[in-house]
Amino acid sequence: MENFYNLTEEQLDLQAMTRDFAQRSLAPVVAECDVKSEYPMDVYKQAWEMGLTTMFIPEEYGGMGLDTKTCCLIREELGRVDVGFTIGVGSNGLAYTPVALAGTEEQKRLAASFIVDGGFGAYCLTEPDGGSDAGHPRTTAKKVGDEWVINGRKCFITNGPLANFYTVFAATDPSKGVKGVTAFIVERSREGVSIGAHENKMGIRVSQTCDVVFDEVHVPADHMLGAEGKGFLLAMNTLNRTRPGGSATVVGLMQHCVDLCVEYAKTRVVFGAPIAKQQAVQFMIADMEMKTQAARLMAYHAAELIDRGIASPLVGACTKCFCGDSAVEIALNAIQVYGGYGYSRDYPVEKLLRDAKIYQIFEGTNQIQRVTIAGNLLK
Ligand SMILES: Cc1cc2nc3c(=O)[nH]c(=O)nc-3n(C[C@H](O)[C@H](O)[C@H](O)COP(=O)(O)OP(=O)(O)OC[C@H]3O[C@@H](n4cnc5c(N)ncnc54)[C@H](O)[C@@H]3O)c2cc1C
Repeated sequence: MENFYNLTEEQLDLQAMTRDFAQRSLAPVVAECDVKSEYPMDVYKQAWEMGLTTMFIPEEYGGMGLDTKTCCLIREELGRVDVGFTIGVGSNGLAYTPVALAGTEEQKRLAASFIVDGGFGAYCLTEPDGGSDAGHPRTTAKKVGDEWVINGRKCFITNGPLANFYTVFAATDPSKGVKGVTAFIVERSREGVSIGAHENKMGIRVSQTCDVVFDEVHVPADHMLGAEGKGFLLAMNTLNRTRPGGSATVVGLMQHCVDLCVEYAKTRVVFGAPIAKQQAVQFMIADMEMKTQAARLMAYHAAELIDRGIASPLVGACTKCFCGDSAVEIALNAIQVYGGYGYSRDYPVEKLLRDAKIYQIFEGTNQIQRVTIAGNLLK
């Protein structure tokens, strides 16, 4: 295969290794896990043994210590087989990034240890009263002596049922609005932490999502992440850095659509010839390829910027929004290429549309991304 994206030998090796692993171990279980909405823990264990679940954790804390672009390559290959599984892995990074950005040495070691030992992390920002308004949480943290006491409910938390630790954003001074939000590390094992019912989702059913409830949860003062009142900034700085990874994951899904449609168009014979001979079908596939290449370039570019120390909210929002919107369009067209069979659960493309849709919703909806893009340009 041509090295179109100027990848290093190490990147090409990791890409090939992940592709092989995903095809061999993940692909055979995906359809059943989608139906049952189950996370394949044995596949996760294999990914952990290969170091893939700790790719973003620095080597000194036991991880692979890979840069953002290399993590994107791995996530794209996993996403090409199942984005739900990949989101489970990626949410470890979402939970760990606030710690990497603002944590003390001890906090970094603590949070990393859960993932390095084969566990999971979860990022707890969204609440039932409007996820788009993430700067005004109802969850509170009150200082009592040497401890913080956390009360509240977070919803739609990826890895919620699996996580060994949560990165939680709570109001420490509600009168200050976004400047009164603070971040905390909360272990799952603490008294008062519980999880809600499993979300029965339309897509990414392999990933596990639920409410996480904090009822008089006491954490020591050294579990506060960064400075008091800087939690919302930390939450946004985190998302600015994690957007390329999420985008690369859905680029994998887009590539999957292209691969399936190319194969199907060559073999489906109608009017005595493969539908690949029909220009209408060719143009749909050409558009799918164009958008996939553009989305991949945006994801890699956003990742390279982060590796150069530039976490641009404008670039991150453009990338997230374009990749999410394009993925939905491409998955819809993949169903069209398959015709009636595309609408059947016995064929793979309807799952890809269900899986793609979340990329217009989570980590800030694509309306909120457009608010960010316009705000950056017009301020
Ligand atoms: C499967 C799944 C996994 C998730 N994982 C996580 C996770 O791990 N951690 C976490 O913290 N959260 C997670 N989320 C939550 C996700 O980030 C929120 O659902 C999302 O931010 C939107 O919030 P909401 O659902 O409350 O929608 P709302 O905020 O109620 O928005 C509803 C609609 O109104 C629009 N809207 C609202 N305000 C504006 C505005 N100012 N301008 C323009 N349009 C607006 C929105 O775009 C949307 O279309 C997850 C969600 C899902 C579904």
